[in-house]
Amino acid sequence: MDGRFFIIAFHEGGRIQEETWELVSFARRCGAADPAMIVLSDEGTIEPLADELAHRTGLNVVGLAGNHLKGYTAEAYISTLVPFFRDTRGEICITATHTSRGIDFAPQLSVMIDACCITAVEDVGEGTFIRSLHHGRFRGEVRADRAAAVLTVMPGAFAPEDAEREKPGKVRIVPAGDISLSTRSHGTRAPVHANIGLTKAEVVVSAGRGVGSSENIRLVAMLSSLFPKSALGATRGVCDQGWLDYSHQIGSTGNTVSPRLYLACGISGAVQHIAGMKNSGMIVAVNTDPCAAIFRVAHYGIVEDLTTFIPLLVDRCLKRE
Ligand SMILES: Cc1cc2nc3c(=O)[nH]c(=O)nc-3n(C[C@H](O)[C@H](O)[C@H](O)COP(=O)(O)OP(=O)(O)OC[C@H]3O[C@@H](n4cnc5c(N)ncnc54)[C@H](O)[C@@H]3O)c2cc1C
Repeated sequence: MDGRFFIIAFHEGGRIQEETWELVSFARRCGAADPAMIVLSDEGTIEPLADELAHRTGLNVVGLAGNHLKGYTAEAYISTLVPFFRDTRGEICITATHTSRGIDFAPQLSVMIDACCITAVEDVGEGTFIRSLHHGRFRGEVRADRAAAVLTVMPGAFAPEDAEREKPGKVRIVPAGDISLSTRSHGTRAPVHANIGLTKAEVVVSAGRGVGSSENIRLVAMLSSLFPKSALGATRGVCDQGWLDYSHQIGSTGNTVSPRLYLACGISGAVQHIAGMKNSGMIVAVNTDPCAAIFRVAHYGIVEDLTTFIPLLVDRCLKRE
């Protein structure tokens, strides 16, 4: 990448979000010679945030400061970033994580600065960006068709680059002025998760949306109960459906597990899920779709309906006892 590369760093409660370090790896993979970090916050908190970024990445950091930036809103970010980028000429690439915030403001920002917007990037090709299509069954290569591009990058797709640098980058704090907004943040609340022993379990049996209904969770739970030191995991899809509590979620925005055995039942294998279980000793996947992305990481793949396969397996195991 010949042009200028900017990484937007999100933060919460005075802490830089972990996915930011993945964006640094992404910038390197894109061949960005001298990427710059941008952090937006209120005047009271901007300096420590910008300093942390400069020390941990060695990159130069621009801190955009304004009291309207106390707490995230898309409007606050866009009204600050648009004037900042308006006068930038030539090729530019602005990146953020494909999290609720990135999804929220990136498309709007791209429209406002006449950039193209490429979302959910998982890999880098020859001058192209690669993203999943149809639940990971296909990979699409997308090329930016304008000088300016706004990208969102999937959490978990790039290994975090996170090592304290000997020489920190330079920090420049830029007052963003007093911008009056029609929206304001009421703050965020951390979820309360029960400890269900996922991270210490030797066997994790996980349910994906392929289970089809909350009733069928019992099949996966039954399979899990056959193993001592086991725990029941789930994809975000299952938790979003309300079939299991979010404390069961595995992935980039859930738990990270590395059991001896990971059994994935009806799970497509989205990159965010893989990020949370790819270091398991052995991965066995059951899925009706032979092209499901989960089979790319599985050591053993069973192409079968889980409602047929799990009762058979449970029955066999019980008979052997
Ligand atoms: C910012 C962000 C963060 C995210 N974080 C996470 C995260 O931490 N963890 C996570 O898991 N997801 C996360 N996601 C969601 C992720 O992108 C996927 O949408 C999700 O993992 C898909 O869940 P799934 O595999 O259960 O469902 P689907 O993708 O719908 O897959 C269901 C699978 O079941 C198979 N199937 C259907 N019927 C059967 C059957 N009868 N028997 C066997 N197989 C069957 C299908 O072939 C399919 O492959 C995140 C998304 C975003 C945008």
